[in-house]
Amino acid sequence: MAARKTTNRKPAPPKCPACDGKGETTETVVVGSRKKQETKHLQIVACLACWGTGLLA
Ligand SMILES: [Zn+2]
Repeated sequence: MAARKTTNRKPAPPKCPACDGKGETTETVVVGSRKKQETKHLQIVACLACWGTGLLA
């Protein structure tokens, strides 16, 4: 008999590594293009790698 293929199972959707499946990332706000002084503000932005879904397409 032929060996069963194990492809029946649906693979779990891979988590987006860029945002760890959260769909959003935090960025440190940087002021000034030369000095790159960081403020203590964090802005939450939608993850561009998965467009906020948290999953890799
Ligand atoms: Zn992501």
